[in-house]
Amino acid sequence: MQFNVPAGITDSRPNNLPEKFEKFWSAYETGTFSHESVTRHYSLANFDQESDELTFNIRWQTSENGIRAGIGSSYLGALQVGDTITATGPYSEFYAPPVNKDNKVAHRIFIGAGSGLAPLKSILFEQLKKHRSTIDMTLIYGARSEDDLLYLDELQLLEKQHQNFTYVNTLTRPSEQWQGHTGYVQNVLARHLEQLAEPLTTEIYLCGPTAMMVEVEKMIVNAGIPKEQIFSDKFSR
Ligand SMILES: Cc1cc2nc3c(=O)[nH]c(=O)nc-3n(C[C@H](O)[C@H](O)[C@H](O)COP(=O)(O)OP(=O)(O)OC[C@H]3O[C@@H](n4cnc5c(N)ncnc54)[C@H](O)[C@@H]3O)c2cc1C
Repeated sequence: MQFNVPAGITDSRPNNLPEKFEKFWSAYETGTFSHESVTRHYSLANFDQESDELTFNIRWQTSENGIRAGIGSSYLGALQVGDTITATGPYSEFYAPPVNKDNKVAHRIFIGAGSGLAPLKSILFEQLKKHRSTIDMTLIYGARSEDDLLYLDELQLLEKQHQNFTYVNTLTRPSEQWQGHTGYVQNVLARHLEQLAEPLTTEIYLCGPTAMMVEVEKMIVNAGIPKEQIFSDKFSR
């Protein structure tokens, strides 16, 4: 969806954050900044019949130079219940096409990192809850630390409820207690691709930071999965 952010004055950094996220913002000065009107895009994290609400996962952007947060993410992040904002869409064509005799898809691998989980979660829940898909589906999700694992409970529950769904996560900066995978999603994906028996009937759904998407696409093509079976939602245009 495309959000219209009006010109105005916005907080330079998030206020009233949960304690565990304060460390990411402690170097940022409090205050406000003025900005012109902009448009920004955010991907739907739920599917049409899930509820009568539209859900988004918006990462509050930090600037590389440590001056302030981004315009769109901080404006949306500071909205209060009852505030209104104009949005149009949806525009993207990132969705799972129906399975039929022409595409013979048998396995769908979803690969995401950070807020890139949003559209993947939407497709996964739509496939399993709405379409009752019986195709094998695997989600490989990368985050920084345990605190950043979005929808952990929901995804673990989904895995329990659907035998054809596997959820795998990996952390780049885990705590000492973490016993799961570490490193980038590429490490976990490499192991999956080594065991991949049917590249011609496997589809890939990809969303995350540009560098990750570029590397993953190379790995997938090298594994013999045809390019037209790779679907991606690019957050940078
Ligand atoms: C199809 C699509 C879907 C997307 N879906 C999502 C989604 O689901 N979730 C999500 O989180 N994002 C998503 N994005 C990315 C999103 O649209 C924005 O690009 C992102 O939120 C950053 O926008 P911003 O206005 O907050 O930051 P911007 O204002 O654009 O700034 C980007 C960075 O540069 C810094 N900066 C900019 N100007 C200055 C300046 N003058 N001085 C100092 N620093 C500066 C900012 O602090 C910020 O860190 C999507 C993008 C696309 C194209």
